[in-house]
Amino acid sequence: MIELESAKYLQADSFASDDDDQLIGEPNQPAPETSQIQQHSAVHPTVYLHEACQTATQMPSNIRANYLADPFFYSAGTICSQCGPVKDRDCTWLETGENLHAYMQRLKAAKSESYHLVRWLLPALLSGLLAIGTVYRMVSEHKPVEPAQVGLLFVVGYAVAWYPAKFVRLALCRLGIV
Ligand SMILES: [Zn+2]
Repeated sequence: MIELESAKYLQADSFASDDDDQLIGEPNQPAPETSQIQQHSAVHPTVYLHEACQTATQMPSNIRANYLADPFFYSAGTICSQCGPVKDRDCTWLETGENLHAYMQRLKAAKSESYHLVRWLLPALLSGLLAIGTVYRMVSEHKPVEPAQVGLLFVVGYAVAWYPAKFVRLALCRLGIV
């Protein structure tokens, strides 16, 4: 019994001396860094729970990096490792308890006006270039240019350009330009 008590005492002592060492040692030990990382992963969590099947899924780091840079990059919905494609409304972050859909809405709302300008104008710029190029070719080939035809080309071009424009936008976001 006495031995046990002394063992406890020793253990307590060794903890105390560890703490002392840390205090005596270099100031600003890794502890603040660790708490910063914990804080960061709490703000931007990594594991979500699909409520219907109670399965936890780890968000792949490359996908996470993409939506943190550009929250509009992916269409709505996510993947449950058990069920496959599911609605983000049906998932909750394990670290924070926040609904996945609410979290994505929060990220989207934080984007600047210049981002949204790029989001809508970039496909217009690409399809505009396509329309101008086509008109230029038609004129140089002495073909008649119908305004309605050019308009249709622009509209179709906008829809087609939306997808490649996403990647240009993501690159601009990652560079911190928008
Ligand atoms: Zn599931």
